[in-house]
Amino acid sequence: MEEVIIKFAFIVLAVILVFFLANVTAKVASDKGGKAGPWFTAGVLLPGVALVLAILLEKQLTKECPRCIRQVDPTARICGYCGHDFARDELVPE
Ligand SMILES: [Zn+2]
Repeated sequence: MEEVIIKFAFIVLAVILVFFLANVTAKVASDKGGKAGPWFTAGVLLPGVALVLAILLEKQLTKECPRCIRQVDPTARICGYCGHDFARDELVPE
């Protein structure tokens, strides 16, 4: 009976570790402009591998908000962090 408890404890620890890694993966990816949800799923399915991919992820898929200097989705019209209106920027060349 003790063996079952030890195995169960290992499974619980493994699940916690996987979710922790997935959380870190989602955080790293979202910092680089990726979507946290899909990256979290990838982190659960491929723990470690997805994290490495998220770290290697280029920041090309984002644009920088001129007001809060955060990376946001390039299709965003309004900054999700500070509410900056990108539509107004389009009138001014960079
Ligand atoms: Zn902003």
